[in-house]
Amino acid sequence: MLKTLRRLMPPAIVEQRSIRLAGKPVTYTLKRTGRRRSIGLRIDDRGLTVNMPLRASEKWLRSVLEEKAAWVVEKLESWHANKPAPQQWTNGEPISYRGEMFTLRIIPSLFDAPPQLHGTQLVVHVFQTDDPSAIERFVMRWYRHEALKLFTECVAHFAPLMGVNPSEVKLSAARTQWGSCTARGKVRLNWQLIKMPLDLVDYVVVHELAHLREMNHSAAFWRVVEAACPDYAKRRDELRKWGMMSDD
Ligand SMILES: [Zn+2]
Repeated sequence: MLKTLRRLMPPAIVEQRSIRLAGKPVTYTLKRTGRRRSIGLRIDDRGLTVNMPLRASEKWLRSVLEEKAAWVVEKLESWHANKPAPQQWTNGEPISYRGEMFTLRIIPSLFDAPPQLHGTQLVVHVFQTDDPSAIERFVMRWYRHEALKLFTECVAHFAPLMGVNPSEVKLSAARTQWGSCTARGKVRLNWQLIKMPLDLVDYVVVHELAHLREMNHSAAFWRVVEAACPDYAKRRDELRKWGMMSDD
């Protein structure tokens, strides 16, 4: 959920560093902030980030990194191995939609037309078939359109069941969050969820709507989630496998 409180804090001092851990070279981002009391390590699609208090010593930093060396190296390697290949915008490439894989089929046409699903294909009619950036633009527009339609339906389904009344549903393109929600009832859902199975979309929607009842992650919050989505823990684990982001 919201990270806006951080705006009040002084900015972090950020630098790139490298070190050898468990015999492997590791580069990482070091962030020093005044508000921290301990050294924290995080690994995501951007690699290792180390958060530490402004005045923590190099010796302390080194001891924490060495203590966690095996974990860091293993986690980084697993991230690297599972990283999805970047989408290619050419004919015959795989493309995901609602948890299923389709094949991108590009058909030359006098007129551009919105992409359409036909069987196992996502068909794109375009004038300029050799311009991947144009294909990307068309498909992205389609993704966003489909995403907003689906998310709006999901919210309309779950909101009355959960006794909440969100004021607005919009797409986000956040790098680190699947969704967010403000106290005023503005729900933001990451457009990339349109690539995922519906039960994961439902979970993120339920999670954000539950924040309209409980603006925290207390036991009471999880009870609200569970009432609408009894197997939420399973879905949450599944969502983590899709990568980098939190379901805050
Ligand atoms: Zn949350």
